[in-house]
Amino acid sequence: MIWPRSGISFGSLAGGLRLCRSVWIGRDANSAKWPWCCGARSNARGAGDGAGPPRNYRQGPVRYASVVLGSRSMGVFVSRARFVSTIFRYDAGLVEAVRAERAVVLRWKEQVDNKARDVAAWKRELAERQAEKAAVAERQRLVLIEAHERRAELEEELDELDRDSDRIAARLHALGSTPVGRARRLVRFSGHFIRPVAGRITSGFGGRFHPILRRYRMHTGVDMGAGHGAPIYAVAGGVVAFSGTMRGYGNVVLIDHGGGISTLYAHCSALLVGDGASVSQGQVIARVGSTGMSTGPHLHFEVRRNGSPVNPVGSL
Ligand SMILES: [Zn+2]
Repeated sequence: MIWPRSGISFGSLAGGLRLCRSVWIGRDANSAKWPWCCGARSNARGAGDGAGPPRNYRQGPVRYASVVLGSRSMGVFVSRARFVSTIFRYDAGLVEAVRAERAVVLRWKEQVDNKARDVAAWKRELAERQAEKAAVAERQRLVLIEAHERRAELEEELDELDRDSDRIAARLHALGSTPVGRARRLVRFSGHFIRPVAGRITSGFGGRFHPILRRYRMHTGVDMGAGHGAPIYAVAGGVVAFSGTMRGYGNVVLIDHGGGISTLYAHCSALLVGDGASVSQGQVIARVGSTGMSTGPHLHFEVRRNGSPVNPVGSL
């Protein structure tokens, strides 16, 4: 049998309160049933006839009053009064204990709630850090890809310039093998050049270390600084061996000066002379630009002897 409000079993309560046995009036003391609380064996409404106390505790002090006042003798009255008084004191203790336990449970619950909030905050922070880390990794990945692509582009640009240089050499060799070419090679070159543009040399002739590709590469001419559209002069008189566009050199003019000497003007924005045209020293043959594999307006100027690039600095 369960005590309705407190959850305490009658069995344990009876063990703690021997007094209760004295009011088992006219009942079987060995019975597992509590005589007051067994509606099946007592008055179902708990009428105070001395043998039928309230059916259960939930029915409250009025029932207990009926029990006490319904006693048939003073002895029974005193016993029941003492019993009820004990029950009340015990009940008050239970209420106090439950109240204290409830307060403890509420404190635990508050602590658990606080921990749960802390855990949720840590999880959010962890998720944000992981997202930030993933974003940084993604940015690094893209930068790496871009660097690889840029490196591949640079390799391609330099390879294209080298291929154009080889094409120029092949063209000069082909021209030199013709009767006209052989005749021009026999013409003695005066050896005097003027400067092709007004600007100074910004990059010299020869092998140089590429900081991005980290390898040495041959620079077959000199770069000269000049603004976009600035005039480019023929450094000496001659015949235009080629005027056209190449992938690496961009717009380019090649002049055969005779005696196996030729000059080349690359990355031009405009070409002002055509193939086969005779030009005189100082004639404006093109304009400065940044066509082909070029990072900005400048003149790439080459001097070639029998098709092979030589350092132009001594000739200028
Ligand atoms: Zn150059």
